[in-house]
Amino acid sequence: MAYSYEAPVSQSLFDRASVVTPGGVNSPVRAFRAVGGTPRFMVSGTGPYLTDADGREYVDLVCSWGPMILGHSHPEVIAAVQEAVSRGTSFGTPGEGEVALAEEIVARIEPVEQVRLVSSGTEATMSAIRLARGFTGRAKVVKFAGCYHGHVDALLAAAGSGVATFGLPDTPGVTGATAGDTVVLPYNDLDAVRAAFAAHPGEIACVITEASPGNMGVVPPADGFNAGLKELCAANGALYISDEVMTGFRTSKAGWYGVDGVRPDLMTFGKVMGGGFPAAAFGGRGDVMAHLAPAGPVYQAGTLSGNPVATAAGVAQLRLLDDAAYAKIDAVSAELRSLVGEALTKEGVAHTVSAASNMFSVFFTDQPVRDYDDAKKQDVFRFTAFFHSMLEQGVYLPPSAFESWFVSTAHDERAVERIAAALPAAARAASEATA
Ligand code: PLP
Repeated sequence: MAYSYEAPVSQSLFDRASVVTPGGVNSPVRAFRAVGGTPRFMVSGTGPYLTDADGREYVDLVCSWGPMILGHSHPEVIAAVQEAVSRGTSFGTPGEGEVALAEEIVARIEPVEQVRLVSSGTEATMSAIRLARGFTGRAKVVKFAGCYHGHVDALLAAAGSGVATFGLPDTPGVTGATAGDTVVLPYNDLDAVRAAFAAHPGEIACVITEASPGNMGVVPPADGFNAGLKELCAANGALYISDEVMTGFRTSKAGWYGVDGVRPDLMTFGKVMGGGFPAAAFGGRGDVMAHLAPAGPVYQAGTLSGNPVATAAGVAQLRLLDDAAYAKIDAVSAELRSLVGEALTKEGVAHTVSAASNMFSVFFTDQPVRDYDDAKKQDVFRFTAFFHSMLEQGVYLPPSAFESWFVSTAHDERAVERIAAALPAAARAASEATA
């Protein structure tokens, strides 16, 4: 596919990056390999807008893959960060900021009795499954195809996100022994979970699932699916781990738990809770968390865990996320979903706009999408054409058909109008695209 627009400064930065960094990026999806073209190197962000190194402004529908739920450079978050930085950037000791962030999480999410702070969502899920194994004395972990839980070895089987984008069923470097303790099942299929418990009696430590998946595109749990998982785990002595790294503090004040009310044994968080800094967490039942060092025998640690700058950003961001903020995000998301749907319908493009609260994505198929296999059946080439048309018109979408779109409280009328103005041409490009 040829692109009629250029980004010479981004291209020269990408050329430099490609010499010193594998593939030119520090996280694969940023390289634009799924859509082609030059990845945009961003230099600044304000509210709903990003500006790239060529001086072009975009309405941002990625929001740093979720964290920037108040938009970029929110003045109160920036002020909290500056205040924290002025006192020092890391102490390697306990500090009040981490207590305040933990209290904020525990106050918002009722099943979380205790929480441990870490620096990335990957660390959170890795630590949660270690804790589940340590607590139960069992080895096996059940996960679902298309659910991404970070690049934890044991969880990189049939993962979504960047792995979905590249179509890698697995990755070299994960040993058979590690993958051998992971049972991968189709999403939204409780019978498969029942069968797995029957096939491995007394061996399954936990079932981990995205609370509502956003890494194969947005594929919400079918009615009763999460409740069924919880029930099967409880009946079989396994822990139910709800990965809320993406949905946490986004899909409601209490994340997806605030939507479906199914009480997990353990939960994982990241993204929003760090206010744009590396902060993540896992938490849940007090008796399970009590197994974690130094209270208990399951080891887990981190030099930068509870970092004072990251926790200041996280606390400031969470305190601004009140009911009015969620009402705003929900409304913007609903408006965009209907605008995108109308534009694609007008051009006769087969599509499904799939939403889970305010998270949404567009599948270029009119068939129902209930799991990863369904998601992979879409016309990805149409997304590619749609993406580039939007980019050319100044709207920055996730550079993959298998990712959620994210909005923020900063997406105001002007930003929505700019997106609306770009949609007709993008829908036409999708309709004219060929495989
Ligand atoms: N879990 C989920 C549901 C995610 O969406 C992600 C990242 O997108 C992770 C875990 C991993 O988080 P991180 O990229 O911070 O390691």
